[in-house]
Amino acid sequence: MQPYVHAAVGLVLAEAFFPDDLGLQFGVVAASVLPDVPTAVEYVKDVLRKEKPFEKPSRLFFLVQDITHSFVVWAIFALAALLHLVFLPLFVGGFVHILIDWLSHKNEKYKAEDPRWIWPLPWNIYGGLFEYREWSWERTQGLKRFFSPIEVGITIACILIFVLLGIF
Ligand SMILES: [Zn+2]
Repeated sequence: MQPYVHAAVGLVLAEAFFPDDLGLQFGVVAASVLPDVPTAVEYVKDVLRKEKPFEKPSRLFFLVQDITHSFVVWAIFALAALLHLVFLPLFVGGFVHILIDWLSHKNEKYKAEDPRWIWPLPWNIYGGLFEYREWSWERTQGLKRFFSPIEVGITIACILIFVLLGIF
């Protein structure tokens, strides 16, 4: 999913988990978009080079994406969260990010671009419920549409839930 969808989900998580602590809320929202920072950097790099975004991502990009989207890596943050509260928003935001990505990556035809969900383990696990990339990505990388209907829909729903949680 695009980073703005994750940020909107982060708002809901922040309000649901830490309704009274602005610092922890900020942490959750930041952690919600954190795994996609490499994607944003790659995008800016391509735009500055006047290339089509994500047409030929580097191997380093894929490695960093594997690390930031690995359930194994975020399990380590779960352990850290057990030791200190500071790591809890980081774990909540980051873990839900990759859970959403994992559930929204379904179609086999994008397999080559999928993160290795349990990096550094040598195999992969697939859990897709639906495929959001049908609306936003070309088959061989390449961003087709930044605001796809499914992503805008989820974002609006999350903002509504966030507002409602704040009121009640
Ligand atoms: Zn992601």
